[in-house]
Amino acid sequence: MQKDSFNKFKTLIHKSNHIVIVTHFNPDGDAMGSSLALYLYLTKIGKKTTVITPNDYPEFLQWLPGNKKVITYHNQQKKSANIIQKSDLIFTLDFNNYSRLEGLGDLLKQSSAKKVLIDHHQQPDNYATLMFHDVKASSTCQLVYEFICGLGGKKLIDKSIAACIYTGLMTDTGSFRFDSVTSSTHQILADLLQTGIKPHEIHSAVYDTYSESRMKLLGYCLTEKMVVLSEYHTAYISLTANELQQFHFQKGDTEGVVNYPFSIKGIKFCAFFSELDGKIKISFRSKGKFDVNQFARHYFNGGGHINAAGGRGNSNSLEKTIEEFLKLLPKYKTKITKS
Ligand code: 5GP
Ligand code: MN
Repeated sequence: MQKDSFNKFKTLIHKSNHIVIVTHFNPDGDAMGSSLALYLYLTKIGKKTTVITPNDYPEFLQWLPGNKKVITYHNQQKKSANIIQKSDLIFTLDFNNYSRLEGLGDLLKQSSAKKVLIDHHQQPDNYATLMFHDVKASSTCQLVYEFICGLGGKKLIDKSIAACIYTGLMTDTGSFRFDSVTSSTHQILADLLQTGIKPHEIHSAVYDTYSESRMKLLGYCLTEKMVVLSEYHTAYISLTANELQQFHFQKGDTEGVVNYPFSIKGIKFCAFFSELDGKIKISFRSKGKFDVNQFARHYFNGGGHINAAGGRGNSNSLEKTIEEFLKLLPKYKTKITKS
């Protein structure tokens, strides 16, 4: 954990004229919730601020307050480059190494702006002037809440900011059920509810948005594609590009699929492989002490948290990637099953 002093953060923010907030590739609820909450707060205290995402994010996050002001690097490269060039302070939220930004990472490397990292993933790189980092935090949204309060802005947390923070807390904790949830998570939630946000509306806006084909894709994954390896307390699901196409895949459609096998008694390690844009995207989840951050980092060019991580195949072949994964299981059997 490294949390620099609020006085230092205050000075840096006070001195800045153009602030940029960036978050990771394929932004999720925590990435967008934390970025937009911080954006709304900084704007409220009179700071010129822009949120730039590396690429598009799912429609079920596009209702978030402030969403219309977001710039997507993938679609607006020149504009993004200009804004970053002019900025003197860049917040990097919900990730901790530039490789998570894809092309946008080069713009940050070239920029002389001061960087502030707010994040809860393992093993941060060393690019930030100041850090607000805690792997124990349930979400980056939880950290952004603490950050705003630490700067003395608690009274400025209105319904819009609260809705953004609630969204990230909800999506990164599996709706408040993961091990990362603590009494302070619930205390924060209580404070957020005081602003008048309606939890049922936010849950619906994020989760009750499946298209018919997304629902059928989930059914297909569970009935046709789930492989349970009881001996290893492990299950995995894989989808080829053709299968995704068959179900009219839209960004976000496979989010959460990786977790379903956990509902089977005894399953402690889940993996999900998909062939996207010619590459193999992998999600790993574990229950207990088996560290999927290390596993993803070591074998699959990825990382994340102890119980939730992602990575990429070493080749562009789905079959080969799964083969590599299967070969590793005997080595980790004890770690998986004992945890
Ligand atoms: P997901 O499986 O939902 O894509 O990601 C699970 C967690 O691992 C998230 O917290 C995400 O930020 C992180 N993660 C996903 N892919 C990567 C990756 O390629 N590299 C790193 N370092 N983290 C990742
Ligand atoms: Mn997160």
